Amino acid sequence: TVVTRFAPSPTGFLHIGGGRTALFNWLYAKRHGGKMLLRIEDTDRERSTEAAIQAILDGLRWLGLDWDGDVVYQFSRAARHKEVAESLLAEGRAYYCYASPQELEEMRESARREGRPMRYDGRWRDRDPSEAPAGVKPVIRLKAPLEGETVVEDEVQGRVVWQNKDLDDLVLLRSDGTPTYMLAVVVDDHDMDITHIIRGDDHLTNGARQTQIYQALGWSVPKMAHIPLIHGPDGAKLSKRHGALGVEAYRSMGYLPSAVRNYLVRLGWSHGDQEIFSTQEMIDAFDLSSIGRSPARFDFAKLENLNGHYMRQANDEDLVTAMEDLLPELGEERHIGRKFAPVLRERLVAAMPGLKERAKTLVELLDSAYYLYAQHPLHLDEKAASLLADGRDRLTGIAAKLEAVADWNAASVEAVVREHAEAIGAKLGQVAQPLRAALTGRATSPGLFDVMEVLGRDETLSRLRFQVK
Ligand code: GLU
Repeated sequence: TVVTRFAPSPTGFLHIGGGRTALFNWLYAKRHGGKMLLRIEDTDRERSTEAAIQAILDGLRWLGLDWDGDVVYQFSRAARHKEVAESLLAEGRAYYCYASPQELEEMRESARREGRPMRYDGRWRDRDPSEAPAGVKPVIRLKAPLEGETVVEDEVQGRVVWQNKDLDDLVLLRSDGTPTYMLAVVVDDHDMDITHIIRGDDHLTNGARQTQIYQALGWSVPKMAHIPLIHGPDGAKLSKRHGALGVEAYRSMGYLPSAVRNYLVRLGWSHGDQEIFSTQEMIDAFDLSSIGRSPARFDFAKLENLNGHYMRQANDEDLVTAMEDLLPELGEERHIGRKFAPVLRERLVAAMPGLKERAKTLVELLDSAYYLYAQHPLHLDEKAASLLADGRDRLTGIAAKLEAVADWNAASVEAVVREHAEAIGAKLGQVAQPLRAALTGRATSPGLFDVMEVLGRDETLSRLRFQVK
């Protein structure tokens, strides 16, 4: 059975690229009726934080990506990593290296001079540890093959070949007995029975080095799929400005998880020209062979359009709940508070068909619903204020006519507004614009008569009378 894993380092938020890696692992596991495990690679004690771990778990949950079994914390397995390094040592497949920091600096320096990557020269590979300088704690290095090649048969990149002479003897265990990333990943993937490693192609060379460790241990190498990184729309590496943000930033910007998921699945993977995928459709169609080899480009406009699509499709109650979930962050500055009052909730649900037609994010939805939750007196934005200043006279007397409407609904108020316009010899728009400004505080809104229906008679009249004496 297929076992994949998502293995983030908790040194920051769950980056949007990490979210995509997690999604691909999750989809591949689901597609094959397998499992996705979660491993937190917290061996860098200085940079790993509890807050980052929480952000990763929250981000995955928000995206709807669940994992199987308990979270594995890599640092807790340090003793096992050490044991494996020592077993390689006992079998003569690894060795103690006593090279001093100064010697290593010299090797680094000559690499710099020659313009090539640093290579450890293997000086302790065949030396007798009895020659070890006193008081120096050694590292353990892999006795990597000197000749031949190391091959990764990558599910995305194809066959990738390294000359072994270019790969030096990497450190497995540091002098303080802690494992290196390279060793820990191999031991954990092996012990967790991982069958498929799906991760960013910045790890491709690590894939070769890890393959050498697997081979030294006599363990079978999991299948690997190194997926191209996400780039900005201009082809450059993804920066903050481009969208290299944590998943929680997308939540705060008012995107729905379903839209973000759909957006992410299409970043680097395709299925004909299909753009919209339900979760089940993604699972059914996902495969590694349709992942492209060139970097995907991040495109905010596309994400917004998808989000608009998912909002229009969403159930109105659910949308109001999703808006409400943003209130702890955004509610204060909009004077809504941290929860919707029950009356407001009802009004929002009633207004939602009109509201969601134009909004691309939940934040836009919150803003366009201003007229519903605004407190007296309404705050008019600049455009609305000038529309009302221009047209206030045309609203004289309309309040009394509206008050007399028998059955308050969009159609009945429309009839009254039309009659009023005709009676004063104005076009409908000349009345509707200042009226909208007075009732919503904005120059644009959902259909005016729908707005009036949702506001109800009392609220409509009190807003109107506040502006038109
Ligand atoms: N912890 C590594 C990272 O966050 C990923 C390791 C892996 O997937 O093998 O980049």
